[in-house]
Amino acid sequence: METYKNYSLKELNSFNLNVRAKIFSIIRSIKDVRELLTMDCFQDNRHLILGEGNNILFTKNFDGLIIRPGIMDFKVIKETAGYVTIKAGAGNNWNAFVAICMARQYWGLENLSLIPGSVGSAPIQNIGAYGVEAKDTIELVEGIDISTGELLRLSNNECEFGYRSSIFKTSLKDKIMVTSVHFKLSKYPNPKLEYGPLKERFKDNPSPDIFSISTFIIETRMSKLPNPDKLGNAGSFFKNPVIPLEEFRGQEDLHPGMPHYPAGDGLEKIPAGWLIEQCGWKGKRLGNVGVYPEHALVIVNYGNATGREVFEFSEKIRHSVKEKFGIRLEREVVVV
Ligand SMILES: Cc1cc2nc3c(=O)[nH]c(=O)nc-3n(C[C@H](O)[C@H](O)[C@H](O)COP(=O)(O)OP(=O)(O)OC[C@H]3O[C@@H](n4cnc5c(N)ncnc54)[C@H](O)[C@@H]3O)c2cc1C
Repeated sequence: METYKNYSLKELNSFNLNVRAKIFSIIRSIKDVRELLTMDCFQDNRHLILGEGNNILFTKNFDGLIIRPGIMDFKVIKETAGYVTIKAGAGNNWNAFVAICMARQYWGLENLSLIPGSVGSAPIQNIGAYGVEAKDTIELVEGIDISTGELLRLSNNECEFGYRSSIFKTSLKDKIMVTSVHFKLSKYPNPKLEYGPLKERFKDNPSPDIFSISTFIIETRMSKLPNPDKLGNAGSFFKNPVIPLEEFRGQEDLHPGMPHYPAGDGLEKIPAGWLIEQCGWKGKRLGNVGVYPEHALVIVNYGNATGREVFEFSEKIRHSVKEKFGIRLEREVVVV
């Protein structure tokens, strides 16, 4: 375990904000976690678990302990003719993990290529893109109960995954440190091409290889989303609101042409980016903060913004959407 004081988080938050943590600890094993839980720096301070900081907005310095899971194992723990189960440590970089799985021709994660972050964060908000979510391949999540030091193993069902949600964002919020995740991946080609742009790209080739899918997704993402190394951002700032069909019909009467997608159980999902664009925010900049011109859901730091400025800017957007549509946008980004 490594522990530092007054540690800069500039490289550890994708908004590139100049913030510091009072104490910063990197844990490398379950033994490290248990040891940390007994230490004064844990007992005497509030704490926050930080992966790679791609879904977090620090509004000020963190006056407590930041714990960075650095557990890096990668193990095949079960293999049959058709499937393989991999146990991956929370500290692995997500995209590197996806690349290793693809190199071994293990199918299931290719649509989630280039999502920034760590393996341990993937189940927290059930990351998703291009018609696939982490929950589709997660078999089990292992984590330490921070109050007892007990190692818990939650099955896929017990994780209560939903759209950008899981039990780790609801009843177990801030109570568990994910230490590793088990993924069940197919050894047979299993392309998931239902999502619009994929369907269109591969309409003449229903059986593309794993790298063709991943390359298309990476190129599309790079053309639409700003690279946080160059322009601070945390991807989609808000979730797409999900409302009852009846409420949607009312919205549609007032706002003809409102895009929507069925979300199951009589619910409809409305793209938050469209709502934000209709309120005139796409490409708008106020001082150091703005909405990315190519993607209305992405708030960017043009250089010297503070976390407070980013937060206040995001609240202005929420307010506009509430005024115009009566819809309350929920943040995807975790505000600290
Ligand atoms: C350019 C860009 C594009 C993005 N695109 C997508 C996308 O397509 N789909 C998508 O779903 N997301 C997307 N995101 C959001 C982000 O990539 C994901 O949320 C990712 O999982 C964040 O990983 P992280 O390690 O950086 O998490 P962090 O930001 O460090 O943490 C996120 C949350 O998880 C908690 N946490 C982290 N690690 C652990 C752990 N081991 N145990 C318990 N809690 C933990 C933190 O406390 C925090 O609440 C994007 C972000 C960016 C910057």
